Amino acid sequence: MDIQAKIHQKFTEMYGEDGAVFASAGRINLIGEHTDYNGGYVFPGAIDKGIVAEIKLNGTDRVNLYSVDYDARSSFGLEESDKPAEAWACYVFGVCRETIKRGGKVAGFDAAFAGDVPLGAGLSSSAALESCFAFAINELNGNGIDKFELARIGQSTEHNYCGVKCGIMDQFASCFGKAGCLIRLNCKTLEYKYFPFDPAAHGYRLVLVDSCVKHELASSAYNKRRLSCENAAAAIRKNHPEVETLSDSKRLWLEEVRGEIPEEDFLRAEYVIGELQRVLDVCDALERDDFETAGEMMYQTHFGMSKLYEVSCEELDFLNKLARKMDVTGSRVMGGGFGGCTINLVKEELYQPFIDAAKSQFEARFGHAPKIYDVVISDGARRIA
Ligand code: ADP
Ligand code: MG
Repeated sequence: MDIQAKIHQKFTEMYGEDGAVFASAGRINLIGEHTDYNGGYVFPGAIDKGIVAEIKLNGTDRVNLYSVDYDARSSFGLEESDKPAEAWACYVFGVCRETIKRGGKVAGFDAAFAGDVPLGAGLSSSAALESCFAFAINELNGNGIDKFELARIGQSTEHNYCGVKCGIMDQFASCFGKAGCLIRLNCKTLEYKYFPFDPAAHGYRLVLVDSCVKHELASSAYNKRRLSCENAAAAIRKNHPEVETLSDSKRLWLEEVRGEIPEEDFLRAEYVIGELQRVLDVCDALERDDFETAGEMMYQTHFGMSKLYEVSCEELDFLNKLARKMDVTGSRVMGGGFGGCTINLVKEELYQPFIDAAKSQFEARFGHAPKIYDVVISDGARRIA
C-alpha cells in the first residue's frame, strides 16, 4: 500500500471523515558546504522522499496527531504551556506556535502523517515534517503567509522547540523545492535562483551512500570551525573593512594575512573561499549541461573538507576514494561532516557496479553495510489532494 493510502486508512479509522492531503520533501545539497555561516551560497534541492499528512480542522482548540511510522498519538492545546512530551510532536507544536507568533490563525485540527525520509541521515526529515505542516496550516487557515516565512517558521521551530540551532537551507529547500531544479541560495541576502538539474536526462544518477556512522566530534568541531572562519575574516577586515564574512573576501586578501593568523585558521578559510567559488562554477557548468565539471568540483569539495577543513572521517574518505577509483563522476561528503552520507553523481552504466562495490567493500572494511538512497530532485511543500 502506498504511503498516502496507508495514512488515509488510519485517518478515516480514527477521525471518521476525509481530510485534505499535503506533502513535502527532504533535501540534498549538491555543493556549498560550511558556506552558509560564511555568508555564501548553498545549492540544495528537494527530493522524492518526504512527509505526507492528511489534515482536517476539528472545530476545537486542540490538535490531535497520529504518527503512522511510530504508531503513536499526541494531543495538545495551542498555548505556549501546552508543549507535548513526545519529541516528534514538538515539530508540529512548534510550527503551530511560530505561526501564531507571526499573527497567523491556527484552528484545532486532526492529522495523520507518515514519511520516507531516513531519520537523522542528513536528508532533513525534520525540515520535511515542519514544512509540510507549516504549509498545511497556512492553507487551511487562509493565513496567506509567504513561502519565505513558512521556511522561517520551520527554522524557528527547530531553534525554539527542538533545541537545534540550524540555518535556513533545509526548510528553504523543503518549501521552495521544484522538480528538476536545484536552488542556489545566498545565505546572507536570501536571494535565490533555480538551475535546471536533470541528471537522468543526461545519463546520470544521483545516489547517496550512508556510512551510518556519526562521530562524536561533530558539534564541538563545528563551533571551532566557525571561530576559525570569524578569526580569518576579522584579520582580513583590518586591511579591507568591507569584509563582514569570508564571502566578501578575495583569495588574495586571505593570502595577505597568512603570517598573522594561526595556520589552522588559514587552512579553514582557504577551504571556505574555494568552496564559495566552486558553487558558482558548478552552476555555470550545469548551465552548459556539463556534469563532468560539476562532478570534478564535488571531488574538490571532498578534498577540501577532508584535508583543509578537516571534517571528514575514515569511512567517508573510504567511500570517496572508492568512487574515484570506479570513475564515478562526482562524489563528496554531504552535510557538516564526521559521518553521514556521501553524495554521488554516477553515470547510469556505472551505477550498479558502484553500489555493489560500495556495499561489499565498505562492509568488509568497517563491519557494517552502508545504506543506499537513490534521489530524484522533486517538488517541495504542496497540497496533493
Ligand atoms: P534529520 O537529519 O533527518 O532532520 P533530525 O534529528 O533533525 O534528523 O530529525 C529527526 C526527527 O524528526 C525524528 O527523531 C522525529 O522526531 C521527527 N520526524 C521526522 N520524520 C518523522 C516521521 N516520519 N514520523 C515521525 N517523526 C518524524
Ligand atoms: Mg533535522
